[in-house]
Amino acid sequence: MKIELRRVQAEPLVLQEEFPASALDLETEEIKYDTPLSVRAEVSRITNAVSVSLRVSARRRMLCSLCLTEFTDELDRKMQFNYRVERFDTILDISRDIREEIMLDYPMKPLCNSQCRGLCPRCGKNLNEGGCSCGPT
Ligand SMILES: [Zn+2]
Ligand SMILES: [Zn+2]
Repeated sequence: MKIELRRVQAEPLVLQEEFPASALDLETEEIKYDTPLSVRAEVSRITNAVSVSLRVSARRRMLCSLCLTEFTDELDRKMQFNYRVERFDTILDISRDIREEIMLDYPMKPLCNSQCRGLCPRCGKNLNEGGCSCGPT
């Protein structure tokens, strides 16, 4: 997301943009995006200090690390960034910072549900769908 600095003043400028998750290289083996990222930003500037507050949302799918089932997850995150710019700077690109904030929140082991029972280690049945005949493990 690029901000044209000449349009930014003390009064917040509201920007609304959508871009594909691929533009920020956000997809991983376990996390895929179903919708583009929708970003609403409020940008204001006082001399060399630019402040950006934004809200990012998207719908995505994650793969549960225990039962290997895909589940839907809503991304809805608020972020706040502050920058110092030089007088002759024209463009402020905040894509990297947005990406970093989102990636920081990625779970190491996504879970479809905190109570997920995973797969039976013997027969591979999804134990969230009921027991299997292997008996208690
Ligand atoms: Zn699960
Ligand atoms: Zn089993």
